[in-house]
Amino acid sequence: NSSHIAVNEPVLSYLPGSAERTQLQAALEQQHAQCVDLPLVIAGRHQQRSDTVEVVSPHAHQHRLARLSQATPADVEQAVQAACAAQRDWSQWSLDARCEVFLKAADLLAGPWRQKLNAATMLGQSKTVQQAEIDAACELIDFLRFNVQFAQELAAQQPLSSPGVRNRMDCRPLEGFVYAITPFNFTAIGGNLATAPVLMGNTVVWKPSATASLSNYLFMELLEEAGLPPGVINFVPGDPQVVSGAVLSSPHLAGIHFTGSTAVFDSLWQQTAQHLPHYRAYPRLVGETGGKDFVLAHPSADAAALAAALVRGAFEFQGQKCSAASRAYIPSSLWPQVKERMLAMLAEIRMGDVRDFSNFMGAVIDRKAFQRIKGYIDAARTDSRCQLVAGGTADDSEGFFVAPTVIQVSDPQHALMREEIFGPVLAVYVFDDGQWDAVVQLVDQTSPYALTGAVFARDRQVLAQLGQALRFAAGNFYINDKPTGAVVGQQPFGGARRSGTNDKAGSAWNLLRWVSPRTVKETH
Ligand code: GLU
Repeated sequence: NSSHIAVNEPVLSYLPGSAERTQLQAALEQQHAQCVDLPLVIAGRHQQRSDTVEVVSPHAHQHRLARLSQATPADVEQAVQAACAAQRDWSQWSLDARCEVFLKAADLLAGPWRQKLNAATMLGQSKTVQQAEIDAACELIDFLRFNVQFAQELAAQQPLSSPGVRNRMDCRPLEGFVYAITPFNFTAIGGNLATAPVLMGNTVVWKPSATASLSNYLFMELLEEAGLPPGVINFVPGDPQVVSGAVLSSPHLAGIHFTGSTAVFDSLWQQTAQHLPHYRAYPRLVGETGGKDFVLAHPSADAAALAAALVRGAFEFQGQKCSAASRAYIPSSLWPQVKERMLAMLAEIRMGDVRDFSNFMGAVIDRKAFQRIKGYIDAARTDSRCQLVAGGTADDSEGFFVAPTVIQVSDPQHALMREEIFGPVLAVYVFDDGQWDAVVQLVDQTSPYALTGAVFARDRQVLAQLGQALRFAAGNFYINDKPTGAVVGQQPFGGARRSGTNDKAGSAWNLLRWVSPRTVKETH
């Protein structure tokens, strides 16, 4: 039995003159110049459909990148059958053989495929070069390699045997197929949701988000090149109602691996509940949903570190992270300095077409997102409880651009402090230093979510108090750091309450959801 020790993939610099920069520019030019047809992939067959949707660049919405085939209910039915048929063979592969496919995929992504995936993520999801490199290259490579290590560690955990008795755990996959429903905001999340169950011997029906379909489809091709057999993952883009409607009515649905909104996850629970008597087994529902992630500062906090964390936590990746800093609680003694530093940093931020590598931000994903985010900003303008501190402008003439926006609110229960906006908007509540204990309570109780959160203080006793008081307020808790940027293998990621089932992406805890072990006792 081989055993693999993973290390994090280094983030490349893309400095002028570097080989990676030249290769990326070539990949960008090539992908920008064409409009490709993205097919379904069912049982290894790539199939175009006449019903398509257009995929455009969010930062240049007149620019078409692809036409995405839309699955019909019959296609979905076939994908389900293909997944069930493929499982018979795939689940018999040894763990080592499955791991080999994953390690090969990681090497392809680290090498020849890296810039193709990065370029697709930049053009299709409007990520800057640094954002794409962290997501589509490093994080996805890390998911593949670390999951191999975790799977091998799990397989090695065997029960006690005794003289004449041999006991072992047979790491069976779930019986049936897993449905992966994946988001636009991370190419890596799409890749991980579709592949983590597969590593444990399951087969998958994958519904990508249309807006991430270019990078997701390329990853599908990469997996095929790495030796993933036909039918193990079936790629079925399409209307969510159509695809989910057909998938969820299959008696063989064994699990759902989801990242997306809380509302959609709720509806998946409701739909599966309706079909429950008809399923062969209880499906496992694993989901990472919304967030309203806090940054709480104590008067002892370092103002410079805090300001930098707010700007990076709220505005990197256009704020389109479930982990993004979106509500901040700042003591009035610190606010003037923090505000001044934030404004100075914001003045330096450039936003625009991601093919210009000096931009720090791209556009938000689509018109619907643009309108939702702009709606929050416009409402704040005429709300006496809100004061615009920075940004506030939005322009969709060429792309869906929303300026990084900071809004100070006087009411800690304001919608801006409770609701997920999923864009570059940070709400700030400034409190009297004397109100500390009440504010800690507010942080815990204001929003229904509990994904990430950050506390800033130099006083160690305060940090200990916060660790306890906010123990259930975040699944990823950051002390003197921004609440974003979890690294696979270092900070397993996920939240509780209405933020999901907290099955920690990129960890052994997640992989456990995709096995249904059989305990075998053999006497001789
Ligand atoms: N894992 C990412 C982070 O820690 C966020 C993932 C997400 O937005 O879903 O920032």
